[in-house]
Amino acid sequence: MNLLDTIPALRKALDAERAAGGTVGLVLTMGALHEGHLSLVRRAAAECDVVAVTVFVNPLQFGPHEDLAAYPRRLEDDAALSEGAGASYVFAPSVEEMFPDGTLTIVHVAEVGDGREGRARPGHFDGVATIVAKLFAVAGPCRAYFGEKDHQQLEVVRRMAADLSFPVQIVACPTAREANGLALSSRNAYLSPAERAAAPVVHRALLAGRALVERGVTDQAAVGAAMAEVLATEPAARLDYAEALAGADGKVRLFVAARIGTTRLIDNLEATAP
Ligand code: AMP
Repeated sequence: MNLLDTIPALRKALDAERAAGGTVGLVLTMGALHEGHLSLVRRAAAECDVVAVTVFVNPLQFGPHEDLAAYPRRLEDDAALSEGAGASYVFAPSVEEMFPDGTLTIVHVAEVGDGREGRARPGHFDGVATIVAKLFAVAGPCRAYFGEKDHQQLEVVRRMAADLSFPVQIVACPTAREANGLALSSRNAYLSPAERAAAPVVHRALLAGRALVERGVTDQAAVGAAMAEVLATEPAARLDYAEALAGADGKVRLFVAARIGTTRLIDNLEATAP
């Protein structure tokens, strides 16, 4: 496994892999890797000749009062876990390597990035779209694996890659969960034992929403309200939003964001109307 920290080194390595006929799988992360990230790496390794994992805590996607400084950083573990899951390269650049002169260029994806996380975290998706565009530009043609856990991010990235014609195929991967339903997240590390016991309420709210959709309830506001009601049964939880959105394919996507103590968790599920 090669640990690289400069843009030219990653570009050269992946260009050489492609010149030798290999396909490249890319997994973009902020590190503190868990089984959710590793499920993306394993899928990429199964479908591509080489896998590159990037580990970069991207300052552009954090708001001024968010957890940039506290975000867990453990590169040595991340490199070993990536290798164990089948990665050939780990790219872990410094902020100075990525943005030696800051950035005057921001990628903004309208509409798709406006609601839910975009509303709760102003500027967040501009930061995401900008770093993903930059990493796509550095990595070159590849298949890039993203988790459905961050569903709106996935939609933002899909739209950005299509609009800007990046030679990148976006692959969506299912959400990895604990047995109690809690979606794996690097931010779960912030939860106290009592908060960890409370956190599965987010998933229970989504399941309640799904049950209504599957019973034929089409009123999206009613489904959102029912999910909010489940959230309200847990005193440690504070709802940010609970929304049901019908897609063009007839499926409904359910979204919940909530704070458990001071930790903000998001999750989503798909539901199919009868
Ligand atoms: P992050 O390090 O949180 O920026 O996430 C990096 C990538 O891993 C994103 O594509 C996430 O959607 C994905 N990811 C994070 N958590 C999970 C999970 N529990 N299951 C599947 N993918 C995940």
